[in-house]
Amino acid sequence: MRFWRRHRHEDPLVCREFVELVTDYLDGALPDTERRRFEAHLAECDGCTAYLQDMRRLIGTLHETPEPPPDAATREALLRAFRDLR
Ligand SMILES: [Zn+2]
Repeated sequence: MRFWRRHRHEDPLVCREFVELVTDYLDGALPDTERRRFEAHLAECDGCTAYLQDMRRLIGTLHETPEPPPDAATREALLRAFRDLR
């Protein structure tokens, strides 16, 4: 019983947990133990490695463009495009 519990405690992170922790990880908000489990999973899971890269890119994009500026020329181009569709 004790062995089982210890085994469970040391279970590697699963992908679902990874997704839940990824924003905290990128914020540097994960405690050391969690971060180690997180990075151990990262080393073994291609899916989560790709997911982390996507999240990094997404967050980088958000930081670069905090607000989509209202752009009259873009709006005009969109209106023209819609008109062409009809
Ligand atoms: Zn994973």
